[in-house]
Amino acid sequence: MGDQNTLGSEKRPLLAAVVGSGPSGFYAAEALLKKKDACVCVDMFDRLPTPYGLVRGGVAPDHGKIKSVTKVYEKVATMPGFRFFGNVKLGRDLAVADLKEHYDVIIYALGNETDRKLGVPGEDLKGSRTATEFVAWYNGHPDYRTLEFDLSCESAAVVGIGNVALDVTRILAKTPDSLASTDIADYALEALRKSNIKEIYVFGRRGPAQAAFSPKEIKEIGEDPAIDLVIAPEDMNLDAASKESLEKEGDANQKKNVEYLTEQSKKGDGSKGKKVRLRLCTSPVELLGENGQLKAVKIEKNELYKGDDGRIRPRGTGVFEELPVGLLFRSVGYHGVETPGVAFDSKNGRVSNKDGRVTDPDSGALREGEYVVGWAKRGPSGLIGTNRADSVATVELLWADMAGKSARGDKTPEGALDMIRAKQPNFVTFADWQVLDRIELEKGAQAGKSRQKFTRVEDMLTALAAEKENAA
Ligand code: NAP
Repeated sequence: MGDQNTLGSEKRPLLAAVVGSGPSGFYAAEALLKKKDACVCVDMFDRLPTPYGLVRGGVAPDHGKIKSVTKVYEKVATMPGFRFFGNVKLGRDLAVADLKEHYDVIIYALGNETDRKLGVPGEDLKGSRTATEFVAWYNGHPDYRTLEFDLSCESAAVVGIGNVALDVTRILAKTPDSLASTDIADYALEALRKSNIKEIYVFGRRGPAQAAFSPKEIKEIGEDPAIDLVIAPEDMNLDAASKESLEKEGDANQKKNVEYLTEQSKKGDGSKGKKVRLRLCTSPVELLGENGQLKAVKIEKNELYKGDDGRIRPRGTGVFEELPVGLLFRSVGYHGVETPGVAFDSKNGRVSNKDGRVTDPDSGALREGEYVVGWAKRGPSGLIGTNRADSVATVELLWADMAGKSARGDKTPEGALDMIRAKQPNFVTFADWQVLDRIELEKGAQAGKSRQKFTRVEDMLTALAAEKENAA
């Protein structure tokens, strides 16, 4: 590349800050570092000392195979030009202005950290919880480890029929012994061992043809030796609009779901210890409590109709039912959280952007040098692999905007490092993470688990300090 001031040249590498170390962040880093005939430095930040975002804190403990995608990210971390700074939080330790001063571009890979609300009365009762916090809790996320879930009731409910809802349902329904060899947090396994929950209602506001879960995920519940997956045959009667859309435009997953659920609905209640009762075309309309504690959920039967936009929508039929439940998880989608200094589209819960270029939420004007990838860009949809193409697309735009341009300011990787040191001396490098990783795997092997996670940031930092002292 051109003169010594050209961005991406050997003399003046493009300096990129990637904020967030989940899949979308790693895929963006990979796309940048793989740029041919270009010099790029990527500094990746995470507020936790551990990388991998939802792969570590979201993927269910019994889905170890899915987690092996981290091997790909490990490879990215070994690419020349890559540095990891864990335990560094944007908005706490660093400001957007610090990043702007030391980097040419910022890529936000912040994910979606909270959940959507149902908007029904009683949602704030004790016992009405969110899937996001339960998932983070059983996965040992440091921010959620002290939460408590009262599993003493016999009947619980999960609202929503996406893959997260099924993860929550499965973890509640499986025998604790079958989870013991996974990387589930110890405190969560202990709590699940004391659980009295025998029955879990799963409410889908639309029908089987509109289920958001993957065929593999629903089958996993249906085929678990300890669980009866129960569906009323009448819930499988497809309305005319669903039938037509399934035939004309239904994808393979939708067809497989309908086929599988139809077979399952013929099996009745079964005789296993745990029942997962999938209730379709059903919406919770009120959560009912006593002394502030959830006691029951009032549900309404829905019928489906085709909206003007062609989407099949639910509407209440005025037929209500009350089911006693002591715990309810809403699992109706994730929602982004605003980070100070980052343009935020509060309506949609994501970083304000146009195709990955960050925009001012009010004027729509582009914010030069700022980009966004993953759920923070497009909302909470898609599987882990979906993020690769999405991140590559954003990096292509970034490259078109930046490469070959004259550099502004005298930015260097050393200067950025000095700034980070000054702002958060307790940062954790990728090599440090590899030490933590090794300790977790060793402790896991001793305990007969795939991994024994650190669940406190202090414990991680103490372990690292001890390792460094030993090595000295
Ligand atoms: P999701 O797939 O978007 O599912 C959300 C569910 O909530 C849908 O069933 C939706 O129904 C329902 N819903 C939304 N608003 C509702 C309301 N007001 N009342 C009742 N139901 C409502 O979201 P997710 O389950 O959170 O998953 C997020 C992404 O992560 C997905 O792409 C998912 O596939 C992925 N993921 C994958 C795995 C895996 O592969 N193992 C595991 C976890 C997550 P409507 O369709 O009617 O809107």
